[in-house]
Amino acid sequence: MQNRWNEQEVQQLINDDAALSAQELDLRVYSSRLLGQDKSLVLHGGGNTSVKIEQTNILGEIEKILYVKGSGWDLETIEAQGYAPVQMSHLLKLAQLKELTDAQMVNELKTHLIQSTAPGPSVETILHALLPYKYVDHTHADAVVSITNTSDGLERIKSIYGNKVVIIPYVMPGFDLSRLCAEIFPKEATDETIGMVLMNHGIFSFGDTARQSYDRMIKLVAMAEDYLARSQALNVASSYAQTSLKSEDLGILDIAQLRKALSDELNQPMVIQQQRTRQSLAFANHEQINTISQQGPATPDHVIRTKQLPMLTNGSDLETKLEQYIDSYSRYFQQAAQTPHDGQKKHRLDPLPRIILDKKAGMLTVGKNIKEASIVADIYQHTMDIILRATQLGGFQALPSQDIFDVEYWELEQAKLKKSGSTPLFSGEVALVTGAVSGIGKACVDSLLARGACVVALDILPEIENLYQRPDYLGISCDVTDGQALNQALEMTTRAFGGLDMLILNAGIFPGGCKIEALALAEWRKVMNINLDANLSLLSKAHPLLKLAPKGGRIIVMGSKNVPAPGPGAAAYSSAKAALTQLARVAALEWGKDNIRINTLHPNAVFDTAIWTTEVLEARAKHYGLSVEEYKTNNLLGTEITSHDVAELAVEMCGPLFAKTTAAQLPIDGGNDRVV
Ligand SMILES: [Zn+2]
Repeated sequence: MQNRWNEQEVQQLINDDAALSAQELDLRVYSSRLLGQDKSLVLHGGGNTSVKIEQTNILGEIEKILYVKGSGWDLETIEAQGYAPVQMSHLLKLAQLKELTDAQMVNELKTHLIQSTAPGPSVETILHALLPYKYVDHTHADAVVSITNTSDGLERIKSIYGNKVVIIPYVMPGFDLSRLCAEIFPKEATDETIGMVLMNHGIFSFGDTARQSYDRMIKLVAMAEDYLARSQALNVASSYAQTSLKSEDLGILDIAQLRKALSDELNQPMVIQQQRTRQSLAFANHEQINTISQQGPATPDHVIRTKQLPMLTNGSDLETKLEQYIDSYSRYFQQAAQTPHDGQKKHRLDPLPRIILDKKAGMLTVGKNIKEASIVADIYQHTMDIILRATQLGGFQALPSQDIFDVEYWELEQAKLKKSGSTPLFSGEVALVTGAVSGIGKACVDSLLARGACVVALDILPEIENLYQRPDYLGISCDVTDGQALNQALEMTTRAFGGLDMLILNAGIFPGGCKIEALALAEWRKVMNINLDANLSLLSKAHPLLKLAPKGGRIIVMGSKNVPAPGPGAAAYSSAKAALTQLARVAALEWGKDNIRINTLHPNAVFDTAIWTTEVLEARAKHYGLSVEEYKTNNLLGTEITSHDVAELAVEMCGPLFAKTTAAQLPIDGGNDRVV
C-alpha cells in the first residue's frame, strides 16, 4: 500500500494567504485525489470523503459546515466545487431521528445546503456528520473486502485490527446505516480507534487533519494486505502466470451474434468489450468458477453497474446461456421484489448480464456505451482478485441476494446512473471509416463521435492510431488493399466494441491529370486497386458483421461528381468511382433482405483536404481566371463545400431520417450545372 502524500505538493497547493476554511477544503481535495488515484482503494465514483469546517455566514454568525463529496464526482478528479456544504447542526439533529425515508433524507440534505449550486450530497452524509472527527475518508479497499467477504470475516477483521477499528455489521447504506453507526460507534470507540470497518462493504478512517486521516487509511489497508500476504492470499496474480493466451479464441461472429441478441432483448444497441488477458482466462477456466463467481459483487454499490452475477459460458453455448440468464434474473427479481427494504413497488430493470466469463474469450463486458462496458471491466478486474484472495482464505462469501437487490433497486443508487440530456443518436453503435486521418474521412470520424458512436478509423498513415485518445475511438494503421489487414481490422473492431453497424468507404486516391493516350496500365490498375477493388474486398468481408447490426447495417460510399459529370484527364479516377457506384447499387439489390442500406454521395470541390494545398488551389483558380474565393464557390449556390458538410450528410444518411432509403446517389456540390 503506497502512501502518496507529498509534502512538497501540499506546499505548492496551499495558499497561505487564503482563508483557513479554503485551505482546509483544498487539503480535503488533495487527499481525496490521492485515494482516487489508487484503484485498489476506489473505483469509478466509489468511496466518499468529507471535512467539517467552521465559517462565518452572511449574517456574521459562525457556523459548522460539513463538506461532503457530491454525487456525480469521482475522488480521483474531484475539485472544491465537487463538495456539497451542508449545515452540521441540522445533520446532527437528523441523526437522532428514529426513521427517515430516502425521499425525506434527500429533501433534508438538499434544503440544508449553504450553496444553491452545490451537487447533491452523498447518501452517506449523515454518517460522515456523526463521526466526531474533522476529516473522514471512506473507501471500498480491495484488501479489506477480500477479508470481510468470507464466512469467518468478522473474526479475521477483529484479529487484524483489535481496538483500532469499530466493526459495523452489514446494513444497507443510507439512513439505517447512519443510525446503526450512531448507536455502535460511541459505545465501542476507544482512544486507540482510528477507523471503522463496514462488513461486506468497506472501511472508514478519520483524523484531525487531512494527512492524519489519509495516513490512517493507508495504514489500515496495509494491515489488511499484510494479513493477506501472511495467508498467501495477496499476490493471486502469480496464479495466472501459467495461463496461455494462444488457445482458441471465440470467433468474431459469435461475439457479434451475442451483441445482437443482447441488443434485441433491450431494443437498444449495446456494445461488448473483450478483455482476453491471462487474468480473465485463468478466472473463466477456474475449476470452481461455478461457485466462486456466482456469489455476488465485492461491495454492494458495484451491483448497479455489474448486476449481481456474471454469465458463464464455454464458447459454444452463448445463446442458451443468455436465455437461462434472463430467466434466472427474472426469478431473482420476482423473489426479492416481494420484500424490498423500503416496502415500495419495484419495476424490473433490464435482465441482461454485464459480465460474461467465457472459457475461450476470457471476459466480455456489456454496456449501453463503451464507457459503461469499460467501467464494468475495471470493476470486475478487481473483483476477480478479491474473489481469488477470499477463496484462498477459505471461501468467498458475498451478501445474500436480498441485500444486493435492495442496493440494485435503491432509487438513490440508480440516480447515480442517470445522466442529464438525451441519448446520442448512435449510442451503442459501431462505425468504421476508411481513409480517416484527414479530410472527409476525419470529418466523418468527428461527426460519428459527436453522435455517440464508437469509431474505428483506418488509414495507411500510422498517425491514425493516435488521432484521439478516448475509449470510443480505435485507430488502425492499415493498407486497405491488403485483405489480411482488413480481416485483422474487422477482428479488432469486434473485439473492442462487439460488432459493426456502419461502414463509410472513403479511402481513395486522386492521381494527377493524365490523358487516356498517356495513361499507363499500371497507373490505371493502381487507381482501380485502391478506389475500387479494396472497397469490394471490405464490403464482402464486412457483410456478415453488418448483417448482425441490431438496427440494420448502413454503408456510405464516397463517390464523386466525376461519376455523373466526368472531367478530362481523370479517366482512371472517374472510371473507378463509376464502377464503385455501380457496385453499391448491386449491393443494395443483394443486401436489402439483410436489412443493410447502402447509399452513395457525390461530393465536388471539397478543398479543405490533404490534396488541396494552397499552391494547388491558387494554380487551379488562376487557370480558370478566378480568385481562390471565386474558385471555391463556383457552383449554383455560390457556396463553399467543406469536409464537415460532406461528413454531416454522410453520417445523417446512416440515421433514422434516411431509414427508408437505399441505393440513392446524392450530390453534395452546391449545385453543378453539368450534373443538373
Ligand atoms: Zn461505501
